[in-house]
Amino acid sequence: MKEIVCKLLVIGAGPGGYICAIRAGQLGVDTVIVEAVKAGGTCLNIGCIPSKALIHAAEEFEKVSHMAGNGGPLGITVETPKLDLAKTIAWKDGIVGRLNSGVLGLLRKAKVKIVHGRAQFRDGKTVEVETETGTQVIRAETVVIATGSEPVELPFLPFGGPVISSTDALSLKTVPQKLVVVGGGYIGLELGTAFAKMGAQVTVVEATPQILPQYDAELVKPVAKRLADLGIRVLTGARAKGLSGNALLIETAEGTEEQLEADKILVTVGRKPRTEGWGLDELDLDRAGKFLRIDDRCRTSMRGIHAIGDITGEPMLAHRAMAQGEMVAEIVAGRKRTWDKRCIPAVCFTDPEIVTAGLSPDEARAQGYDVRVGQFPFNANGRAMTMLSEDGFVRIVARADSNLVLGIQAVGAGVSELSSAFALAIEMGARLEDVAATIHAHPTRSEGFQEAALKALGHALHI
Ligand code: FAD
Ligand code: NAD
Repeated sequence: MKEIVCKLLVIGAGPGGYICAIRAGQLGVDTVIVEAVKAGGTCLNIGCIPSKALIHAAEEFEKVSHMAGNGGPLGITVETPKLDLAKTIAWKDGIVGRLNSGVLGLLRKAKVKIVHGRAQFRDGKTVEVETETGTQVIRAETVVIATGSEPVELPFLPFGGPVISSTDALSLKTVPQKLVVVGGGYIGLELGTAFAKMGAQVTVVEATPQILPQYDAELVKPVAKRLADLGIRVLTGARAKGLSGNALLIETAEGTEEQLEADKILVTVGRKPRTEGWGLDELDLDRAGKFLRIDDRCRTSMRGIHAIGDITGEPMLAHRAMAQGEMVAEIVAGRKRTWDKRCIPAVCFTDPEIVTAGLSPDEARAQGYDVRVGQFPFNANGRAMTMLSEDGFVRIVARADSNLVLGIQAVGAGVSELSSAFALAIEMGARLEDVAATIHAHPTRSEGFQEAALKALGHALHI
């Protein structure tokens, strides 16, 4: 097979890789992308999109189920609803399929050459790809590694049989009666909540003293309350130890052993970079722990090799991978770019949702700032009341000396859609006065953002 020679080779077509290739193509860079499985990567095929589809279906089912019998306060009653999970999964697969074709179309439109198969490094400028029609050698001036991450497997709970990963959980055809989730982080709580809403009896086993340990306790409280309301048993400070038949053996926070009967055991204890089995070891790139070490231009320790996305470490989020991909494409095209983002917003799609952008009050104080904090509860927000979802709040953190906004957090129904306003305020260097002086449409939950700023300034209007 004829060797391909190109200016840019992107390995992996997840959100990092495909954005990098599209932008490079737009800028006229001769670009090739290699993908072993499916364009869109983890996020589109087995991550963000399918999980959010399932979460939405579960939410709808739970809402309707709640109306069965006596009905809720809205005065709507329905017959007992039924869920056909196989149909839900088929619907989810349809969305994934549409987006998958969309990404391939965008790559073609940008004149990117797509090679299907697993890339294997020969040296820092050359890879071999086993394609359906033979071995394809690709030689490039610049290589971008965007091979992403994969679930961490616990040695005493290998995937298989009742022990499933997030990928398996997103394709179940029936709702397990008893689901035990090991790991109360992002995936465990997003999917655990969804399965509980679909009727599973769910237990979450979390090793640290708090679920979602990456967030502060105040933000997590409304989520913990809702988990309890949904009947989800949450065991914090508890560790999975192994299998005993179809039961999960755990050590509780008190040091006792317990067996948790389960039809499925979903292990979501983090993800690890995909660095093994494709010749990367031979390049001997510098590492930052398990991840590839990069600088503020996503350059690795070897000239001509960049790395983006999950393989470069936390936060392992799709929008970070995309932003890195866009930046690297512009650098390859000769533009002057460095990583100058002030914040990477994060959303946890639990019930209620959590959003963070920038620094929490404790993080800001730990960095030596004297801070002013304003918090506005959704139970004082008209829109939240009309939507029967008053739990949660918006919190804003600013420098006490200049009122420069350092961080914004929120927990509440639908707050994921506020993440862009939060990130924009921080990126634009907004002060409390800017947020307070911006007219926020009424009635919306976003008014909580304005009110939090007013509160920090000492003159909130609705509390
Ligand atoms: P990936 O998306 O992992 O893509 C890497 C690609 O490289 C894959 O397609 C893989 O097949 C390919 N590849 C690997 N090795 C090779 C090779 N040798 N040759 C060729 N191709 C190769 N993030 C969010 O921001 N929001 C969310 O709501 C969210 N939800 C998630 C839900 C779940 C269940 C999971 C698992 C993850 C979720 N994430 C979410 C995280 C998000 O999916 C990742 O941060 C994102 O996909 C990382 O993008 P990436 O481009 O670095 O890698
Ligand atoms: P995570 O890091 O969010 O959570 C893993 C949890 O497992 C932690 O709370 C940890 O303390 C716990 N844990 C570890 N070992 C354990 C053990 N032996 N027993 C019990 N608990 C244990 O990881 P995740 O949920 O697997 O998600 C992986 C990554 O995917 C996330 O870090 C995030 O970057 C990304 N993701 C993002 C979103 C989103 O943006 N909404 C959604 C899903 C996943």
